Amino acid sequence: MTTFISSNLGYPRIGEKREWKHALESFWGNNITEKALINQTTKLRLANLEKQQKLGIDWIPVGDFSFYDHVLDTAFSFGVIPTRFQDLDEKSLDTYFGIARGTKEAVAAEMTKWFNTNYHYIVPELNDVTPKLVENRALTYFLEAKEKLGIIGKPVLIGPVTFVKLSKGYEENELSDWVEKFLPLYAQVLNELTEAGAEWIQIDEPILGTNISNQELELIEKTYQTLRAEAPQAKILLQTYFETVQHYQKVVQFPVNGIGLDFIHGESLELIKKWGFPKDKVLAAGVINGRNVWRADLDTTLELVEEINGAVDVETIILQPSCSLLHVPVTKDSESKMDPIILNGLSFADEKLKEIQAITEGANKGKASIQTILEESKTAREALAHSSYRQNQSVAQELKELEGEEVKRTIPFSKRIRLQREELKLPILPTTTIGSLPQTAEVKGTRTKWRKGDITNQEYLEFIDIETKKWIQIQEDLDLDVLVHGEFERTDMVEFFGEKLNGFAVTEFGWVQSYGSRCVKPPLVVGDVSWSNPMTVREIVFAQSLTKKPVKGMLTGPVTILNWSFVHEELPRFTVQNQIALALEKEVLALEKAGVQIIQVDEPALREGLPLDHLKWPAYFDAAIKAFRISTATVKPSTQIHTHMCYSEFSEIFEVIDALDADVISIETSRSHGELIDTFEKNKYDKEIGLGVYDIHSPRVPSVEEIKLNIERALRTIDAKQFWINPDCGLKTRGEAETVAALENMITAAKQVREAY
Ligand code: GLN
Ligand code: ZN
Repeated sequence: MTTFISSNLGYPRIGEKREWKHALESFWGNNITEKALINQTTKLRLANLEKQQKLGIDWIPVGDFSFYDHVLDTAFSFGVIPTRFQDLDEKSLDTYFGIARGTKEAVAAEMTKWFNTNYHYIVPELNDVTPKLVENRALTYFLEAKEKLGIIGKPVLIGPVTFVKLSKGYEENELSDWVEKFLPLYAQVLNELTEAGAEWIQIDEPILGTNISNQELELIEKTYQTLRAEAPQAKILLQTYFETVQHYQKVVQFPVNGIGLDFIHGESLELIKKWGFPKDKVLAAGVINGRNVWRADLDTTLELVEEINGAVDVETIILQPSCSLLHVPVTKDSESKMDPIILNGLSFADEKLKEIQAITEGANKGKASIQTILEESKTAREALAHSSYRQNQSVAQELKELEGEEVKRTIPFSKRIRLQREELKLPILPTTTIGSLPQTAEVKGTRTKWRKGDITNQEYLEFIDIETKKWIQIQEDLDLDVLVHGEFERTDMVEFFGEKLNGFAVTEFGWVQSYGSRCVKPPLVVGDVSWSNPMTVREIVFAQSLTKKPVKGMLTGPVTILNWSFVHEELPRFTVQNQIALALEKEVLALEKAGVQIIQVDEPALREGLPLDHLKWPAYFDAAIKAFRISTATVKPSTQIHTHMCYSEFSEIFEVIDALDADVISIETSRSHGELIDTFEKNKYDKEIGLGVYDIHSPRVPSVEEIKLNIERALRTIDAKQFWINPDCGLKTRGEAETVAALENMITAAKQVREAY
């Protein structure tokens, strides 16, 4: 008889009402002391643990909490501090936040996406560092849970190979040397945890779900042999997620005590059926989707568990979410306004843990023991599947007409650009911004009032107009060339459209951490998506009426809307993507009809949606290109289409960028310290391009000289006729004064560089 045990891989750190974010931001704003920050976050951390304890989860993760990012925590606890911060106190919270957010003296560390998620981690910089154990964080949190709540938690660590792979500041051939340097520290961490009473320790190596080389595979094997030898008492659960483990047969033989696999994404079930699973190890099976917010079909889940159990011969199977619940909102209990059919079909972190608990019980005691719960989940799923959200015939027809069609603009870029230049009459090296302008406390506060019904629609719109007007004036005074309306009416670039398109639903508290204290609230795709009314025309046309300079129309692209939404798993993703694209096309044409000459369709999430398995890339790209073109290709040749992307490593996806056929692309550059520029030279990109000339993630105001250096560096490889000057990304998280100061320096820099042309 197999015993089933329930477990969790990680719990959202932000709190039900984003208490964590508020505490951090109050601290950064000097409104609370460090002591208060620690008190507030400790309370939250303990409450999160207690919740999981009450839900009956057997293995509760500890060490998943963070003050900003768990990759940064790992780096910090091993003394991995970027060179430019090394004269600061290696233990202080100020240093920690300095690395993450930048200080007056030093730029922040690079930030990039965690595998195929929208969670961003701080990239550790190894360079000249000598790793040492500054603090055994996992132990601190383990002891806290044990002493305060009597929980014997399961410490969670990022595995040494994944950690080094995600770091920078070394050559590829130094990978194994660097891993080796960390191993004694990992062994010490493991031994201290075991001595303190930790029974199981989860070590995450999500890198195993990516296309690693044989050499890297050997390195991982060697790593776990070393850890086994150096920490013989530690019970190690080697955890993978997000994709199929590529070298399954080898990996399951590694000298660890348990292996965690994701049975939701990828082909783990086929693998265990084909190759079996070692008898002497514990299998941790991710059977509830940790990347989605939909209530599971528990009958199917239970069948999956039975199939897994039938394929392996082990004493213990751990049932758990497919990955950390960091990627889903906390609880649906806070939602008060949602259509009950949708609400009933949801499952956030807490509800997922309840599902885990139920499935574990069902697996141990038989299906009958959870009959009511099974029926509830079935009824809820069916109600949504048969609801009116899923019956849009006209969208289906439009999609059918597009099948097999090549969608493209009527004339090639080389001809379009001439018409566009004639109409727009911009100077060389034109300046612009990415779209959003500071969302001050006043902007956010007014929106909250409006949402609560404290002010009328009319009053809200008037307020937005006043703000827009103020900023059109500021942009004119700054002498920017292409203006924006500022996106004051939008909370978030995806949610805004989710609120307006049919087929979407939005939540009140469905927040998920994106980076640092920044959270996003992805809308939900519950059915067929379609357009009913203009969504952005009023604001853009108003802004344009205030100035003679061109104002860009601003939309979020189909790929990004799809990737930053929670799409119901019953709906085929590429179909939804094309439905969104068709809806956006109608918006693009409405803007054009209203006289807008430049339309920017942002695709910051294009790269992050990439499957981890490279074999799945071509299909993803084809679909992305098609969708982007459906949205944009039917405009007049003289209408200029812009797009924008963030943090992308472009070398591999250059052809895709080119195939989107946008006339102008702006890309974040400065946080990847210019590594991007060469790609565009090497590939002879012929369209126009704006590589961000300063980082917007930090409150630091860049100097004219610094910006000039960035521009000049780009112009060494890119033709000035093609080049635009803009910040890295939208400015909505920045303060007003710092934004004006930074833009002023950017424009001064642009003007000085222009003199040479
Ligand atoms: N237009 C959006 C903005 O400026 C783009 C944001 C993004 O790329 N993430 O906020
Ligand atoms: Zn961006």
